[in-house]
Amino acid sequence: MIEYVPFGLFIKSKKNFMKIAKHTVPSVTYTLVVNGEVVDMAEKEKPLSFIHGIGMMVSGFESNLEGLTAGAKYEFMLSPEDAYGPYSAEAVVDLPVSTFMVDGKVNKDMLNIGQIVPMKDQNGNPLNGTVLEVSEEAVKIDFNHMLAGKELNFTGEILEVRQATREEIEHGHIHGPGGHEH
Ligand SMILES: [Zn+2]
Repeated sequence: MIEYVPFGLFIKSKKNFMKIAKHTVPSVTYTLVVNGEVVDMAEKEKPLSFIHGIGMMVSGFESNLEGLTAGAKYEFMLSPEDAYGPYSAEAVVDLPVSTFMVDGKVNKDMLNIGQIVPMKDQNGNPLNGTVLEVSEEAVKIDFNHMLAGKELNFTGEILEVRQATREEIEHGHIHGPGGHEH
């Protein structure tokens, strides 16, 4: 017997069972715990949505979600190698105070311990550094990612999985809710 399947229902159920794979767009909640402390989270009202498989998220995060469908809950731990890499002592550098001169004066507002300063490397790529120490001549800056060398514990739930549009894949970002509006 042939049954009538309303078009909208068919699409909906197909979407619900779509597995997370390359070029799908999962919307997920997550809680990131590092050393027993919650450092980041996204809740149901404002979930994280991203194009899977193009390097938008750290590799371990994407591989652990692969194959999951809407409604699935997840929990996993990432070693630094699968996340932001090991902590590198070489990424801690002393820069002359003059680096922070603006209009002939040192911009003291930027130089508080623990402050994140936006900088550029020699190729012009943006780079964030954290101020560790300030002396008369030099500023010690840590260019490691805040989560470098850290074990990341993720828990969350898959809310929705849909196919990315060709345009989204070309642009490298999602459109619509939680994404670019253009
Ligand atoms: Zn776009």
